[in-house]
Amino acid sequence: MLMSYSVRSFLMDSAKNPASAYCISAKAPEDAVRAAREFCQRIFCESHTACGTCLPCRKFEAGNMVDYLEIGVQEGQDQIRIGEVRGIAEFLSGAAYEGGYRCIHVVYAQRLTVQSQNFLLKTIEEPPNNVVFVFSVDAIHKLLPTIRSRCMEMVLESLPRKEVFQQLCKKGIHEQQAAYIAAWAGGSLIQAEKILADEQLAQIRQKATAIALRLATKRNPSMYLLEQDFLSAGKRMPEILYAIASLFADAALWPCSELMLNNPDAVQTIDVLARQFTLPQIQRIIELLNQRTERKLRYPQFRDDLMIKSLIFDILEVRAW
Ligand SMILES: [Zn+2]
Repeated sequence: MLMSYSVRSFLMDSAKNPASAYCISAKAPEDAVRAAREFCQRIFCESHTACGTCLPCRKFEAGNMVDYLEIGVQEGQDQIRIGEVRGIAEFLSGAAYEGGYRCIHVVYAQRLTVQSQNFLLKTIEEPPNNVVFVFSVDAIHKLLPTIRSRCMEMVLESLPRKEVFQQLCKKGIHEQQAAYIAAWAGGSLIQAEKILADEQLAQIRQKATAIALRLATKRNPSMYLLEQDFLSAGKRMPEILYAIASLFADAALWPCSELMLNNPDAVQTIDVLARQFTLPQIQRIIELLNQRTERKLRYPQFRDDLMIKSLIFDILEVRAW
């Protein structure tokens, strides 16, 4: 748990006597969602600690807390539409079943349409007694100022890389693995846990290393093999592109302290890249990889084989500078 910073403890303490609306933001949206859920659980919890053992906690964790409503994006949609938000009125029409607070948590509130936000505004402006709204967002400015002005704003800062590293080591994770996970997790323990549980990621990183080394060989690399390595990532194409870019980013810093690297476990590869490529070449290659990542995220249906072919041609051209 991210217990070490003051905003968070302030937020959790206020569960005893909550305000009527909160906006919780974190760069990694899952962090905001998790903190918001924990906060709501604390409101219901008999000891306000989210103990996990009292009856309200058990109901909450089992998804049976009737005084808690979570709304968010419906499957197959990319925005929280007004139909979703209208459900709130029905939820609020009766009294609290448990006799205490009622909580409405809007998950990924950055996806609320303007229309939905305006609809919500009416309820937030004149909130019924003992009702708490919690918005979890990736960036507070994505909510309308009129909504924000009604909320207590809480920004969950990311943790320093060193702290994530130490937490992972405490869990018994090997130092080198902990170091790269901490670098990749961007200050979020939730991301770190995800990376840790991601069995495919090790393979993706291995492939990324293989591709980077192929690009760094003195002979002309085989187009075919490069293409095969890239395409083996399948659905995880954005990650393999990111993994390669992060190796090149390390090469731009090299030589430096291992703690500054994204891939402290790949020092040999980084060293080869740093010797084979000039800084302008490295910068251009990172740019090319980032462009493709963005394109892939924006147009997932775009054919990988075409994208990868053109990427390889572009990189080989840079190599020939
Ligand atoms: Zn409890």
